[in-house]
Amino acid sequence: MASHRKPVSVVTGGAGFLGSHLTDRLLAEGHRVIAIDNLLTGSVANIEHLAGHSDYRFIRHDVTNYIFLSGEVDFVFHFASPASPIDYLEHPIPTLKVGALGTHNALGLAKAKKARFLLASTSEVYGDPLVHPQKEEYWGNVNPIGPRGVYDEAKRYAEALTMAYHRSHGVDTKIVRIFNTYGPRMRLHDGRVVPAFIGQALNGEPITLFGDGSQTRSFCFVKDLIDGIYRLMMSATHEPVNIGNPREMTIRQFAEEIIRLTGARSPIIQKPLPVDDPKVRQPDISKARSLLGWEPKVDFEDGIRQTIEYFRSRV
Ligand code: UDP
Repeated sequence: MASHRKPVSVVTGGAGFLGSHLTDRLLAEGHRVIAIDNLLTGSVANIEHLAGHSDYRFIRHDVTNYIFLSGEVDFVFHFASPASPIDYLEHPIPTLKVGALGTHNALGLAKAKKARFLLASTSEVYGDPLVHPQKEEYWGNVNPIGPRGVYDEAKRYAEALTMAYHRSHGVDTKIVRIFNTYGPRMRLHDGRVVPAFIGQALNGEPITLFGDGSQTRSFCFVKDLIDGIYRLMMSATHEPVNIGNPREMTIRQFAEEIIRLTGARSPIIQKPLPVDDPKVRQPDISKARSLLGWEPKVDFEDGIRQTIEYFRSRV
């Protein structure tokens, strides 16, 4: 990279929850950012604060089609994909296409520009895990033909393609496996448990617990997650790295925490558990600790309070 200019980063999915927070961090680090998004699940509201920023450019484009960019690029962050269970159930084929064709185009861009590449992968590659907590060495337990298969297998294919570009074409690639993340800019109605429960609590509606609520998740605040991703891109490693918060809780405990922190009087009601809903999930972050010197810093209550504040003005 020439030293006389700012580094240039491309963020696919740049108008999404994570893509927009990543963009803010990159701009703060002195990068120029080219964000690409087709706005299928991303939102202009997430990036409107960047309008007119001299180091920021937004391109509305579906990365399952060829990505043409003139000029130099130093880093490609591939974040484009529907990411909430109801989104990928509603858009199964675009989810498969962006994981496969979109990853191919983003890798092709990185190869052509001699840029570093980072794939946003997911804890969903572990499926309904039989190993707990999940280490990167675990190969997973995924139902390829179930409703979640469109996302899980697209991301597994994307990981395989990323490693193939690394091994065959020498592209400097990174893979982050992202565990449940929350924070401002999640969509209120994206169906994920954090906006769902906070929205219901703030509206005084019943909290919809799927199943008996004994399934577990481990929630990471977005600021911590983005820090881990930035460190990974700047590191020398090529192997997948889990980034997430190991603080595990049952979904019932999570519902009770949301009721406590919002002061809501909402009752908890049970709904059927979605097909193939993982029973447990907790990242083993030993690799992130040793390779990146990273671990989450934001306390659960702090992060949730910030998220509640964000949703308060939007319900
Ligand atoms: N969940 C729930 N009620 C909701 C939404 C989700 O009980 O209104 C549960 C869901 O069944 C899962 C967990 O919360 O066990 C996390 O779901 P989410 O959709 O956030 O993401 P996942 O971790 O399953 O990808």
